[in-house]
Amino acid sequence: MYKIAKENLTALFQKIAAEQELYLPVRNEGQVNFAAWSEDAQVDIDTLKTVKSPKDAFFPQSETLYTCVRDGKKISIEPEALKEQDFVVFGMRACDVRGVEVLDKVFLVDPLDTFYAARRDHGTIVALACHEPEETCFCKVFGIDAADPAADVATWMIGEDLYWKPLTEKGEALTKAVADLLTEDAAADEAVEKEKEAIHNIIEQLPYTHLSLEGWNGDVLMEKFEDPLWDELYKPCLACGTCTFVCPTCQCYDIKDYDAGKNGVQRYRCWDSCMYSDFTMMAHGNNRKSQKERFRQRFMHKLVYFPANNDGMYSCVGCGRCVEKCPESLNIVKVIKAFAKQGGEK
Ligand code: SF4
Ligand code: SF4
Repeated sequence: MYKIAKENLTALFQKIAAEQELYLPVRNEGQVNFAAWSEDAQVDIDTLKTVKSPKDAFFPQSETLYTCVRDGKKISIEPEALKEQDFVVFGMRACDVRGVEVLDKVFLVDPLDTFYAARRDHGTIVALACHEPEETCFCKVFGIDAADPAADVATWMIGEDLYWKPLTEKGEALTKAVADLLTEDAAADEAVEKEKEAIHNIIEQLPYTHLSLEGWNGDVLMEKFEDPLWDELYKPCLACGTCTFVCPTCQCYDIKDYDAGKNGVQRYRCWDSCMYSDFTMMAHGNNRKSQKERFRQRFMHKLVYFPANNDGMYSCVGCGRCVEKCPESLNIVKVIKAFAKQGGEK
């Protein structure tokens, strides 16, 4: 285990950024989001949750896939280059790291998403333990430990020091690259264990920590799908899509063409939302015709369909962003609670 003084973090960022791209939480116009590091970036690793999750680092909000260029009668198709530059994402929280594992289950299976795979190959994740989890957090419900993030490097900010523990080969390589800024600390394990205990104590007291997922496991698909509760639950939903855009695990996208004039026609993909009425619109129309069906899809996917196809892994990580951002206070906690109440639980 290593450590580095908080006052030397800028030197650490400079060192990393000299060799590879670096993304980390940056404050801009009152919001904190992951962005590329620069000398004048207002780095903010104290804010617990960025507004958007850091999934953009691996699955950007918008990216060109290829460009069609016409030269007289000849049309050529030029695929967009895959990511070749190594990069580091610093300061991801444990829930967002699990979010990337969820995306892996979608994009790293057959047929492989080569754009995503190249970013995963070149990206190193340095995770930061949550010093003070907030009321909207419920990652423990999904077996995630906010005090002990599983990434390439796990870090803990304790007082005026950042403690640093490499966990994978990529993590070891990054540690070696910045070794002259890190010092080994014999007392580090003790300090980190104490910090973990303090974090666990906070987590135990959070209002949604003990949310029960009982009733969402096993052969419940049709029972949940047909439940009349959806008839009421969906009603306040404005179909704004905010919940899907801030979510670290939502992975719906659309593919569109953009006429860039003399630069050709660019085919690009961009995030989309299952909450939108034109999502997956086909020539015959849309499979999910009502907002109730679209609303149900989002939660059934996270709590039933995804785990059924991925060895029980839920595609919610309890980050609480939808809890904070939905303008109608509709969210996955409300859905889970509504079903639990119906089953006679508290
Ligand atoms: S659940 Fe809330 S955030 Fe999501 S689409 Fe509906 S109104 Fe918007
Ligand atoms: S559904 Fe909500 S709480 Fe769950 S991962 Fe997405 S934004 Fe976070």
